[in-house]
Amino acid sequence: MKRVICSPGSYIQGPGELGQLAQYYQTLGRQGAYLIVSQSAYAVWKDRIDGGFCSADVPYEVHSFGGECCQSEIDKHLRQMGNCDVVLGVGGGKVLDTAKAVAHFAHKPVIIAPTIASTDAPCSRVAVLYTEQGAFFHYLSLPSNPNVVVMDTLAAAQAPVRFLMAGIGDALATYYEATAAARSGAMTMAGGCSTRAALALAELCRDTLLQYGRQARTDAEQKRVTEAVENVIESNTYLSGIGFESGGLAAAHAIHNGLTALEETHALLHGEKVAFGTIVQLVLERRDAEELLAIIRFCRDCGLPTTLRELGLAHAGDERLMRAAAASCAQEDTMGNMPFPVTPEDVLSAMKRTDQIAQLAGLLKRG
Ligand SMILES: [Zn+2]
Repeated sequence: MKRVICSPGSYIQGPGELGQLAQYYQTLGRQGAYLIVSQSAYAVWKDRIDGGFCSADVPYEVHSFGGECCQSEIDKHLRQMGNCDVVLGVGGGKVLDTAKAVAHFAHKPVIIAPTIASTDAPCSRVAVLYTEQGAFFHYLSLPSNPNVVVMDTLAAAQAPVRFLMAGIGDALATYYEATAAARSGAMTMAGGCSTRAALALAELCRDTLLQYGRQARTDAEQKRVTEAVENVIESNTYLSGIGFESGGLAAAHAIHNGLTALEETHALLHGEKVAFGTIVQLVLERRDAEELLAIIRFCRDCGLPTTLRELGLAHAGDERLMRAAAASCAQEDTMGNMPFPVTPEDVLSAMKRTDQIAQLAGLLKRG
């Protein structure tokens, strides 16, 4: 099978980059920038965003995001676009996905500017569409990745540190899932087999997180943009972005998706559930105890859930846990990318084993 790797045209990261959006816009358009901005991000970063466009004397329009990445929201922006020739999305995941979809339907370039570093979605050529009521609708596969991704590390470090840590949880899965998918020869979302390049980036992603994750937590708690914070943000956003899309997903994300069937887990962020799914994948793979404990300790140090209690599932019982386990093995999910068959019973026992080992690791640490 062919090998495919894809990425955004450019990835730019640094403190204060939200103030440079006009400059990046000018490489793609001239008639006017169409900004879709979340109200919360605009409330904090209005001066920096507007200041950049005003001082560069670049025409732009700011439009508020309605709150859901759904077809009616996309249609609303398509109607309002007028002569604007580039779409910019500024904010969290749903705003960014809306911008990707609007640009796609309008046949315009898109600039993606995340204000948090909680997932690896910004760089990808996928948008997740919901119904107006907020239920998952479908994945919109786009023909290309965003033209430019601009990551303002000052903005990401100002956000609650829980988002950055959830981003670590999402990114930590990348190497393990990409390795599993490569072993099984799975087709990735990029539309082919994995490349050596994608695997190398996935490995660098994991190594960077393990080296700098703990320090990044300490620094981000003090709202400081340090080398550790920069390295982790690059891993969460870029390395993991290329790694998951061109390297493939496997058990960790399938288990995340299974957990969403249990409403007790709904208060958790995506990356928090993925972190638990990653440990369960390691248990399924029968990784040696030393590696397993190192990952569990790392997740605990990052405030990521490692036990059923921390997932809100202390009293769920086998029957409900089995619902999640069965959902994770659904035909259309990515459990089939594991290099060996995995049954719902395997997942259930691996989830319980993860819980036991993590509890033990917690006791050992306290003792
Ligand atoms: Zn993810």
